[in-house]
Amino acid sequence: MIIAVDGPAASGKGTLTRRLAEHFGLARLDTGLLYRAVGFRIIEEGDDPEETAIAVAAAERLQASDLNNPALRGEAAASAASVVAAIPEVRATLRAFQQNFAANPPGGAPGAVLDGRDIGTVICPGADIKLFLTASPEVRAERRVKELQAKGLEAIYTRILRDLQDRDARDASRAVSPLEPAKDALVIDTSEKDADTVFETALAHITSQNN
Ligand code: C5P
Repeated sequence: MIIAVDGPAASGKGTLTRRLAEHFGLARLDTGLLYRAVGFRIIEEGDDPEETAIAVAAAERLQASDLNNPALRGEAAASAASVVAAIPEVRATLRAFQQNFAANPPGGAPGAVLDGRDIGTVICPGADIKLFLTASPEVRAERRVKELQAKGLEAIYTRILRDLQDRDARDASRAVSPLEPAKDALVIDTSEKDADTVFETALAHITSQNN
């Protein structure tokens, strides 16, 4: 079973995919980490993430172990990620990693759940289940602030909201694989829903599709 979960930043994809993976015993891939690892390496080396040749070289050097770096969770990595993610050659380089994960889920899992921006449209267009999560920018910024504060990090709401909106604009307007729901995706607006309700909505949809 392949489950594709797409949507903008802080729409609840991580929470939902962790629960789906646990429930069905699936392998999980947070594909945002791939773009974050590429973007982060470039800024760490003092280079410009908008430079195609540099970004492609960083994508080609990416190793699975790079994804474990806790610094990838920060906003600097997120911004650099959305810059490199607009470069078609970077997306093409990272596509094989993602498709290979879906085709050969690690640990002998019977399938995989992937979250990202173009899983249902480009990476796994034949996925058994496609979900697209959304939420208002204000709700997503509030969630991100709480997440960062829970980790003891400084978080300024207005700055987080502006960063999210900049990232949404870049992700939705890029020429390749822009952020958009697949035609056959179930769209779930999580603005007014807690994590349990989102999980139950997804589960009800999966059950209805499998019957
Ligand atoms: O999901 P996350 O916030 O970690 O993603 C960071 C950035 O990586 C996104 O803003 C987006 O630009 C890019 N991304 C993407 N395609 C994916 C996953 C992430 O373009 N499948």
